[in-house]
Amino acid sequence: MITSEERLAAQILDALELKKVPIDVFEIARKEKIKLCPTHGSTGFCGRLEYFPDLGRFLLFYPDHPDAEVNPRIRFSIGHELGHYYIEEHRERLMRGEFHSSESGFICEKTFEMQADSFASGLLLPERTLTRFLQSKGRNFLTLQEMLTLAERCATSRECAAIRYAKFAEEKCAVVVSRGDNVLYSISSDDAARIALRLKHGSQVPPQSAARRATTASITEGEIPGSAWFPWTNVRTLSEESIALGYGGLVLTLVAYAHS
Ligand SMILES: [Zn+2]
Repeated sequence: MITSEERLAAQILDALELKKVPIDVFEIARKEKIKLCPTHGSTGFCGRLEYFPDLGRFLLFYPDHPDAEVNPRIRFSIGHELGHYYIEEHRERLMRGEFHSSESGFICEKTFEMQADSFASGLLLPERTLTRFLQSKGRNFLTLQEMLTLAERCATSRECAAIRYAKFAEEKCAVVVSRGDNVLYSISSDDAARIALRLKHGSQVPPQSAARRATTASITEGEIPGSAWFPWTNVRTLSEESIALGYGGLVLTLVAYAHS
């Protein structure tokens, strides 16, 4: 399902006439007169957008990095902060200084973060690019390799491209990020979710799955009974493609209805 934040990102790209990937997030900030502030922050610092009433402008702090312009993590962080800038409610709150008030408590902070993430993925992997890429394949699904190619073309992380694809896909599929036998998170396409092909954090990765065999940067493929991943369904066969991401022991898997 396309979220309203992804739709907003598409509108911004249209309005700014940005048609080519990789999308230059720095250029967007400059066009909006947001001051870019590379910062030597503590480890784990991703970025922050702040409004300075005295200057009458927004300052966007992000980790200083020699390859910031092409670094997928930093590009995503900037896309996320731009989400806070463009999503009206976020922007209003920032301008009122609410994000930083000590007593705010901010019960729905997680929702705001998810909305900004959704905006960022819509900005970095534009709907237009996804649609054209699928059209160029002449079918309604992508392979894991094609998803990785898309990530590279858009200068985003492989995880980001995979999540965006799963939400966008018209096929029954799920993207799973796991470590060992543990599912860390998973996103299902609408069609897959409709028939309960959904996994939660902490679900088990089947011992016989490609996800358990994937230890290198090359793709491990396989077919598996649907009940191995989703014991509550009677889906017969699912195709699997997995790749070790090369950090934190993470494995990215695309589980889909087997294509004939
Ligand atoms: Zn945020």
